[in-house]
Amino acid sequence: MKVTEHFEQAKGKTLISFEVLPPLKGGGMQAIFKALDGLMEFKPPFIDVTYHREEFLYKKRPSGYYEKAAIRKRPGTVGICAAIMHRYGVDAVPHLICGGFSVEETENALIDLNFLGINNVLALRGDPRQFEDKFIPEDDGHKYALDLVKQINGMNHGTYVDSSITNGEATDFCVGIAGYPEKHFESPNISSDLHFTKAKVEAGAHYIVTQMFFDNAKYFEYVEKCRATGINVPIIPGLKPLTKRYQLNSIPRKFFINMPEDLVSAIVKAKDDEAVKEVGVEWAIQQAKELKAAGVPCLHYYTMGDSETVKRIVKAVL
Ligand code: FAD
Repeated sequence: MKVTEHFEQAKGKTLISFEVLPPLKGGGMQAIFKALDGLMEFKPPFIDVTYHREEFLYKKRPSGYYEKAAIRKRPGTVGICAAIMHRYGVDAVPHLICGGFSVEETENALIDLNFLGINNVLALRGDPRQFEDKFIPEDDGHKYALDLVKQINGMNHGTYVDSSITNGEATDFCVGIAGYPEKHFESPNISSDLHFTKAKVEAGAHYIVTQMFFDNAKYFEYVEKCRATGINVPIIPGLKPLTKRYQLNSIPRKFFINMPEDLVSAIVKAKDDEAVKEVGVEWAIQQAKELKAAGVPCLHYYTMGDSETVKRIVKAVL
C-alpha cells in the first residue's frame, strides 16, 4: 500500500513509522530484524531504509603512492526493503538518491522496485561525498531531487528514458521528498527552499518527511509556511532523540539544525552519560506528545542503530 493511503486509512489518527540504516558491509540482516522485531508492536505501516552513496577512500600502495577507491560501506537498501516486506508484511520505503546514479541506472533501479512490488520511494538528491565541498552528480545523472521526482512521475505515466519505448508500463510509485524546517543548508533562505520544495510537489511528490528538529515551533512554522506557499501534501515530522553529550555539536554540524536553549542547558547540567540520555529521551517524549496532540499524520523516528531508545519513547507517547 502507498504511504499516503496509510494516512487516508488512519482517518486522522497519528501513525508511527521508523527509518533504519543498512548494516555496514559484512554485517547481516539479523541486526535489522532484531531492531525491528522490537518495534513491530507499534504496528508501523511503513519502514524507511536509507541509501548510502559510495565514498572515496585512499589506500596506500606498496610503492608509496595512494590509490583512490570508491567503496559503498552500507549497500543493500533494496534487498533490505524486500526482506522487511517479506518478514513483516509491512510496506518498505527505499530511499533513492541522485548521487552515483545515471538517469538510466535510476530507471533500472525503479524497474527493480516495481517488479518487487515496492511502490513507495523517498526521492532525494543525496549529500556531497566525504571530502567534497559540494554535491557532484554523475555526468548523466540528476543534479536535484526535483529531476528525480520528474523521472519517477514520468514512469508513473509510462514514460521511460529510453525513448524507443512507446508503450511502457506505467508504474504507480508514491513519492516522498525531504523537507527542512530550518531550511536546507545550501539554500540562501527559507523562501528559496520552499520554492523548490513546491516545485517537487508540483512535479509529482505526494508527501514530505522533515529533517529532524528539536524545537516543535520550527516544525509548526514550517507547516504554516508550506501551506501559505501552496504546498498541501502531508508533512511528516522526523524525530531523533539526543542521547549523547557530543551530539550537542555533532548534530548541528552534520544536519545544520539548532538546539533549543532549554535542551542545551539541561544536557550541559546533566551529571553523567545516563543523565544526558534521560534528558534527551524525556525531551523527545514531550516533543512527540505535543506533535501528536497537534494531529500530525505520523511520527517518523530515525532509529540510527538505537531502536531500544526509540521504543521507550514510542511507548511513553501511546
Ligand atoms: P534537493 O531537493 O535537490 O535540494 C538541494 C538544495 O538545492 C536545496 O538547497 C534546494 O533548495 C536547492 N534546489 C533544489 N532544486 C533546485 C533547482 N532546481 N535549482 C536550484 N536549486 C535547487 N541522504 C542520503 O544520501 N541518503 C538517504 O537515505 C537520505 N535520507 C534522508 C531522509 C530525510 C527525511 C532527509 C530530510 C534527508 C535525507 N538525506 C539522505 C539527506 C539529503 O540527501 C540531503 O539533505 C541533501 O543535501 C539534499 O537532498 P534533497 O533531496 O533535499 O535535495
